[in-house]
Amino acid sequence: MANDGGLWGGACRCVDRAAARIGLDKAMVDRLTQPERVIKVKIPVRRDSGDLELFDGYRVQHNGARGPYKGGIRYHPHALEDEVKALAMLMTWKCALMDLPFGGAKGGVVCDPKKLSREEVERLTRRLTTEIRRFIGPKRDIPAPDVSTGPEVMAWVMDTYSMHEGYTVPEVVTGKPLSIGGSRGRERATGRGVTVVTKEACRSNGLEFEDATVAVQGFGNVGSVAAEMLNEWGARVVAVSDSSGGIHLPGGLDVAEVGGHKAETGSVSGFRGSTDVTNEELLELDVDVLVPAALENQITGENASLVEADLVVEAANGPTTPEADEILGERGITLVPDILANAGGVTVSYFEWVQNIENYWWDVDRVNSELDEIMTRKFREVRDVYESGEEDMRMAAYRIAVEKVANAVRDRGLWP
Ligand code: GLU
Repeated sequence: MANDGGLWGGACRCVDRAAARIGLDKAMVDRLTQPERVIKVKIPVRRDSGDLELFDGYRVQHNGARGPYKGGIRYHPHALEDEVKALAMLMTWKCALMDLPFGGAKGGVVCDPKKLSREEVERLTRRLTTEIRRFIGPKRDIPAPDVSTGPEVMAWVMDTYSMHEGYTVPEVVTGKPLSIGGSRGRERATGRGVTVVTKEACRSNGLEFEDATVAVQGFGNVGSVAAEMLNEWGARVVAVSDSSGGIHLPGGLDVAEVGGHKAETGSVSGFRGSTDVTNEELLELDVDVLVPAALENQITGENASLVEADLVVEAANGPTTPEADEILGERGITLVPDILANAGGVTVSYFEWVQNIENYWWDVDRVNSELDEIMTRKFREVRDVYESGEEDMRMAAYRIAVEKVANAVRDRGLWP
């Protein structure tokens, strides 16, 4: 089995360990780690200049034993095959852990969306959708937003797919705009889930949530909503950052105002009264809670010994490397793993898919209260497994998830 470090190697190592505890054989471990299908496409896009540019796109379908594949599409210069493969595997465990009837997938296009116009992104999205359309669908594989994609991109996916089918198929993607069947509460769901879990984790670790100081790395859809809600619910957010750098204000930031400042100036830097910090410095601030909500591989073997927080809540996918995991563990820092901490997004995606299929709309209070209930219950389930002797919360979550997928694979048997 590949064990080549990074996100993929780290996830494989967790599966290996979970398999040893559950008593799974090597053949099962291979089936559980290797993706079932990797779709690679070339996406020709007419640039606004008239030139033609070719982009690489991927859709990785990791494991479909428990239901249709589910997972986001990201547009990023590092959305390379191995990365997307690892992220697809994380989705399998995330959906299983949360008891959502889905398998795991992830898609990506290697591009820098900051250098593309809105029209270019639309053409890229429509061509990507056309290339992968035979492999996606409400019962096959249901994409959603991820890094640098959002409701608008999902609308183009839905429209392109529907044009090919000849009728409207809202349930082919989640994270859509409300006007075409999106769910109330979906855009804020990941950040909300992070907030619910952070509150629970503070309680479990003897930290007073209301007084807790928090640093949030990343101010995209997940980081900005998490920072805002943590603030609203009473924690003190003292630092936030985006890709161009961060800001620190020990007395606490008014996150809604920081959002306004970013909307005006393009970045959080220079917010009144705050001191500029780099993204690296933000991770080392003396705070109670650190929320990495940007990209993978941020807390590494190099800087994990400098993390001062008591609690790390992984709002991004894979922000902590396996080496860092070990160092944090040795230092007694509790880590709430990505497949639990950021599962609020896919959970409300599930609600959206259900609403689309039933053609019956939930109000936002129902969405939020069902989300809060699931996040709280799952946090406690993982914590209980951890406290019953598992080495850390990540392994506890993997153990629960891997066992569920292994059971599904075994119970279905092998065809033919
Ligand atoms: N991209 C998000 C994630 O990593 C959401 C996936 C979904 O809603 O399907 O969990």
